[in-house]
This record gives sequence, C-alpha cells and structure tokens, in this order.
Amino acid sequence: MIEEKNNQDSTLKNFKRIVIKIGSALLVDRKTGLKTSWLNSLITDIALLKRQGHEVLIVSSGSIALGRAILGLKQGRLKLEESQAAASVGQISLASSYLEALAKHNLVGGQILLTLGDTQERRRYLNARATIETLLKLGAVPIINENDSVATSEIRYGDNDRLAARVATMTTSNLLVLLSDIDGLYSAPPNENPNAKFIPVVKTITSQIEAMAGDVGTELSSGGMVTKIEAGKIATSAGTAMVITSGKKMHPIAALANDEKATWFKPSENPISAKRKWIAGQLEVSGKLFLDEGAIKALHSGKSLLPAGINKVSGDFKRGDIVAIIATSDSNVGIEIARGIVAYDAQEACKIVGHKSTEILDILGHTGRSEMVHRDDLVLSK
Ligand code: GLU
Repeated sequence: MIEEKNNQDSTLKNFKRIVIKIGSALLVDRKTGLKTSWLNSLITDIALLKRQGHEVLIVSSGSIALGRAILGLKQGRLKLEESQAAASVGQISLASSYLEALAKHNLVGGQILLTLGDTQERRRYLNARATIETLLKLGAVPIINENDSVATSEIRYGDNDRLAARVATMTTSNLLVLLSDIDGLYSAPPNENPNAKFIPVVKTITSQIEAMAGDVGTELSSGGMVTKIEAGKIATSAGTAMVITSGKKMHPIAALANDEKATWFKPSENPISAKRKWIAGQLEVSGKLFLDEGAIKALHSGKSLLPAGINKVSGDFKRGDIVAIIATSDSNVGIEIARGIVAYDAQEACKIVGHKSTEILDILGHTGRSEMVHRDDLVLSK
C-alpha cells in the first residue's frame, strides 16, 4: 500500500533511538580515499541529534572500498581474500576517522564487528545486544560493520542494508535511516524509466512494492534497492520505521530533519507478533519444560511462566534458546502447549524449578529474570 502524502510520523525528531546506515559510496572516493569533510558534516549532525536527546547507532560500510583505495588495489571485482585483506586495512582506518570526527564533539565511539551468526543465533544475538545497549547507556556511539575480514562468502550478509535492519530490530530502535546515493523508492528504476514516479510513503511492503525495486546499486556498494526493500521488511515487521534518502549532500541528517526528499516506510502496528513469528517459526527446540494443569491455565490467561509452575526440565539448552512447553496433566499429557525463549540455561533451570522467583538469588548466587519464559517471549500452540 502506498500513501500519497507525508505526515507527521515522517519527521526525524519523533524517533528516539535511530540507526543510521552509511553506504560506502558516500564515505569513500576510489581515487582520493575517505571523504573526511563529508564525514565531519555527518558527525556534526549526529552530535546535534544526541544533544537533542536521541540515541544514535551508526552502521557504516566502507571498509572494503577504503582498504582497496589505501592498498591501491586494481579496479573491478576482488577475490574473496583480497576483499578481506582490504576490509582489514580499511576498517582500522575507518574506525580511527570516526573517532577523530566524534572527538571534535567530545563524543566517544565503540566499534562492533558482527558476523551473520551474531544476529541469527539467539544467544549470540542477546550478547551483542547487551554490549550495544551498554555502549548507549554509557553515552558512546556504537559504530557497527560486518566483520568482513573473517566472514566467508557463504556465511556473510554481504550488504549492510540488511545488517543495519537486524541491528535496528535487535536494539528495538524506532527508526532506521538508510543513507546512500539513492534518494528513495520510485515506481520503476528511474535511470531506466523516465516516467518513474517517486514514492514518499510506503505503508506496507506488498509484492507491488517489491517489484519496484530494480537494481540500482553502484560499483562501490553491494546493495541496490533490492536489499533496501529486504531491510525494510526486516525492520518494519519488527516495529521499526525506515527511511531511504540520499546522503550525497553535506549534513545529510540535518537535511532529513528538514524534510528532505525521502521514502518513509511505516512500522507494522503489531510488532510483538514479529518476535512471536520468529519463535513459532523455529524448526528445532533445544529443550522441554513440563507443567501441570494450574501452570497451563496461568499461561492461557496471559501470564508468564514462572519457575514455580514447572515440574521438570529436559534437554541441554542455553539462555535464549527456544524450548517447548509440555503438559503433564492426565487429560493432555505429553502435548506441546506452547513454545518460548527460555531465560536460563538448562543447569540453572533444573535448580530453580518448583521454587519461588524470590529464591533465585539464594539458589544460583545471582539474580536473573523472575520468569523462566516471559509472556512476550511465549507463543501458545492453540
Ligand atoms: N561491509 C562492507 C564494507 O564495509 C559493505 C557492505 C555494503 O556495501 O553494504 O565494505
């Protein structure tokens, strides 16, 4: 569904936590290397956002492009090991340029290099999320990229559009800004079709919207509109809005705040269902929790699953894994009644089942969640 007019949801100041993804073509010139004055203008905008009370995360591309400029590598396609070496050289230089730019505003940056597994596996995902949350709490600006120098082609994102969308959903950010050399979505690729119509707002990503994404990637960037629409699906289905705008001018974020031309993607109105879909969609469970009739009734009335309601635990699961919740009462013994994300490792779970949540500290020697499975992390089978 497409909306004709922009409205007030499409205003930067309405979003508290913002992920800004920067495409390689904006940051790096093939001949001259890093575009330092552009970077300084971007960071000036980000410093202002932070002073206004926003939380800002940066997902920056550019390591491979910058590394190849520094190393003077040939034009054209690089072999995997060449692009990994280029990423290694480029990333260290990119990170130090960010730090210099941030320091001018008395800001500190923290580098996080992620691989696909860090965002796919729930446990690693929770750990990465905790680090990023802590950086934000400490006032540092997380600067995130894919760990290109170790990720092999089979197990990498390859484009930072989708990586940025995963980072945005992982951190329950309110808005993902994709800054690239494309100013938004058109009804057809504008370089091929002069009648292409600009789309200011996308309410839902339908197959009609997907069909509009031709391939308008540039030599320096891996994504085109296709990966941007993919990013939009990831972000909006989890409740994060997204905006695509050109970052070619100086001060691109200030421009966006002043209603620069852009395509805004509305977040889904029912974001919790996205997480539940993720839970229900897992093929394998790592363990089982067995409950009696009373605890099952509590789940059906919308409560979380507390350790006290569990009779028995089986399996070798870790905190953050998906477990099946199984009935033990006579009427439905052995039936799976729900699935959920478990808040404790199997060993810890065994020790605290049947106990009140207030006893967790004494039993384990540390506090954890009061719930074994929080109701937001739970999907009932029927
Ligand atoms: N991670 C890649 C880099 O830093 C960029 C991927 C992309 O172009 O989206 O060079």
